[in-house]
Amino acid sequence: MKAVVSLNSGSSSIKFALYTLDARGGPVLAAGGKIEGIGTAPRLTARDAAGVVVADRTWPADAAPDHGALLETLFAWGVDHLGDHEVIAVGHRVVHGGTAFAAPRRVDPALLDALDALSPLAPLHQPHNLSAIRTIAALRPDLPQIACFDTAFHHDRPEVATRFALPRALHDEGIRRYGFHGLSYEYVAARLAQVDPAMAAGRVIAAHLGNGASLCAMRAGRSVDTTMGFTALDGLMMGTRSGSLDPGVVLHLQTRCGLSPAEVEDLLYKRSGLLGVSGLSSDMRALSQSSAPEAREAIDLFAWRATREMAGLIASIGGLDGIVFTAGIGENNADIRARICQGLAWAGVAVDETANARHRPIISPPGAGITVRVVPTDEERMIALHTLRLIEENA
Ligand code: ADP
Repeated sequence: MKAVVSLNSGSSSIKFALYTLDARGGPVLAAGGKIEGIGTAPRLTARDAAGVVVADRTWPADAAPDHGALLETLFAWGVDHLGDHEVIAVGHRVVHGGTAFAAPRRVDPALLDALDALSPLAPLHQPHNLSAIRTIAALRPDLPQIACFDTAFHHDRPEVATRFALPRALHDEGIRRYGFHGLSYEYVAARLAQVDPAMAAGRVIAAHLGNGASLCAMRAGRSVDTTMGFTALDGLMMGTRSGSLDPGVVLHLQTRCGLSPAEVEDLLYKRSGLLGVSGLSSDMRALSQSSAPEAREAIDLFAWRATREMAGLIASIGGLDGIVFTAGIGENNADIRARICQGLAWAGVAVDETANARHRPIISPPGAGITVRVVPTDEERMIALHTLRLIEENA
């Protein structure tokens, strides 16, 4: 009996899922969860497929293990939890595959070197993704590991969607628009093809609205344009990230306000977005429950920016057949979905209030020309599917 592990290792958290294989070799969720608070007060929580808590462990802040030690503990817990099932591979989310990697790859030393070289393009994420691979390799050198890239889904976009209006040499050096959240979009596109093949074959905008947020315009299930660019800072307003900004602001902060590059980075990644505008919280649920005018302003700006970027993407794919909302806000916040759809009424988008309030799979009115759906994303399952496919191909 076999099993695979999916890992999504970030700077302060590790998300994971354990899957056993069914008779046809497909992944069946055994448990999933996360370690949060790495570097401060770590907490490991996991639930089984029925939602029952199967792990809840904390460490005192003064004796908290580091990232690598926590991952070792997690892996040991996973192997133990899986009992008789043998882990045959580990799949990882790797944020950057650069221009070279258009599909998941089995990890070997040469690939690790190539991915290390991409770390300057994603300094906040890539090193953590790669150190997780190295930790597992040290523990279990024989265990196949698969790197699944967040950029890969966007790899084949038209050239025009990848270029900044900068000197050519910079584009050639890799300063270009890559796009992220690719595992989420790939999962959503695959689900859509199962539940609504006609819509999946058309022009669809997927809205991944979570702490990180972006949009992806797809034609026939392939990415044509997306709001994130060179980094995951671009595009929509997010929980703590600014999204697109006049680059003159960045210059001003450094040359006139005297902020160092590290301070600007901290400001744009960690102190902006919903948190910065509200001054209260990065969490949309908390803001929705607040009566403070600043919370309202932050929500208004989030919805307005998403609507405006959506309108741009409609042009990128030459019209619109459907919208898919996904991730924490997209799946759970009817108000944000309604505001975005109402803002696109001119384009023929409509929302059925009751269906939306109930988070139904289809939230557009019956017979609407543009179908609006809610599709829960599952990046960990996408990683598991890629991992199993590569293991089978190499068998
Ligand atoms: P991440 O990008 O960290 O994976 P999520 O996809 O979990 O983030 O999204 C987090 C956001 O979704 C937060 O703003 C949170 O308030 C919101 N959210 C999550 N669950 C709900 C819910 N049940 N109701 C309303 N908002 C929710």
